[in-house]
Amino acid sequence: MQVEFKPRGIYLPDIDLWLDNTEDCASNWISHGHSDHARGFHGRVFGTAETLSIYRARLWGTPEQPPDCCPVHYGESWDYNGARLTAYAASHIVGAAQILVEWRGERLVYTGDIKLRTPICGKNTEAIPCDRLIVESTFGLPIYHFLSADEAKMRIVRFARECLDSKLIPAFIGYPLGRGQEIVHVLCEAGIPTAVHGSIARFIPTYEAAGYGFPGWEAYQSRQTAGKALVVVPNFRNILEASDKKYRLAYVSGWAALDNARARVGADELIPYSDHGDFEELLTLVEQSGAREVDVVHGYTELFAHVLCQRGLDARAPREASARAMSEEVPEG
Ligand SMILES: [Zn+2]
Repeated sequence: MQVEFKPRGIYLPDIDLWLDNTEDCASNWISHGHSDHARGFHGRVFGTAETLSIYRARLWGTPEQPPDCCPVHYGESWDYNGARLTAYAASHIVGAAQILVEWRGERLVYTGDIKLRTPICGKNTEAIPCDRLIVESTFGLPIYHFLSADEAKMRIVRFARECLDSKLIPAFIGYPLGRGQEIVHVLCEAGIPTAVHGSIARFIPTYEAAGYGFPGWEAYQSRQTAGKALVVVPNFRNILEASDKKYRLAYVSGWAALDNARARVGADELIPYSDHGDFEELLTLVEQSGAREVDVVHGYTELFAHVLCQRGLDARAPREASARAMSEEVPEG
């Protein structure tokens, strides 16, 4: 099966299907709702119901022809232009999915963003045997090692309680979709009063619809922060710094695995928990797939592909995406 890697997405010309195309196209599979995957006005869109609901919320303006959204369940298969497509769960954010494309006896899997560890919110990754795997490598270096969901929960709650006991405001840096809701969920379930930035609060209903509780959360108001934990987005740090609030900052991210994150984001506490896999998880994921051919996209692509080649696989980095992981504007992780 031919696979074309373009800056805007991955194209399968044999069956005329795009994977995570971020610009307008006729038919697109959307692996999950992050903004670097769920964008563009498409004719027909496949994804889970949660992903498509996030995608619709992200569409700005009114297209002449609204996208034909085709929600699929995990484990569901459907025929498409001579191929058999099947969606499988991916541990990343709520609604994330992998896709298996079966075409003329070949099995190709595109993971989208993924990890192997159980997430705080979301489904566990299903291993899918395949011939060819397209996998991400946002954290595809051995320097990255992440906490389990249980360890991360414990660290989040402990940090919040220690701050509140010392009359300080615990402020957590999350991301607008995924990490933010997970942190709020953990704090609320622990009975800690929690104020939430609007960019994160926007997607709480999506997580509630998926079955996760957020008892007692409230919208962030700058004059009502005493005795509460704050969950805010990364650029909110400047507002906190400029305020007279006595706070301590926790950074919950894969990037927090490196100690230089402390200075980069001004964090007092680093909690290395991610919705991406760390190096060992990515290696295990590739091994479990049984794939002999591997395309590595996003992050440390060339280095991770090199490691896979040393293990005897036919691996390559078809896109120059490694610079993205090194840049100051780090992707959500
Ligand atoms: Zn993502």
